[in-house]
Amino acid sequence: MKVKECAKCPKSGNVMYRVKIDATKNWFFLCKDCTNIEKDNNKFYIYGGTWKGYQ
Ligand SMILES: [Zn+2]
Repeated sequence: MKVKECAKCPKSGNVMYRVKIDATKNWFFLCKDCTNIEKDNNKFYIYGGTWKGYQ
């Protein structure tokens, strides 16, 4: 099973959310908690899919 680190906090997990959170074209992987915060507070938030580290 693979894990990714969250781009905003020290957590890592096997389910991460691919999101845009700024005006650049960059994608970031965030944990669920950070994704929920960005969704509510960030006008640049775009959801791009869910990454899973397991089959
Ligand atoms: Zn996080």
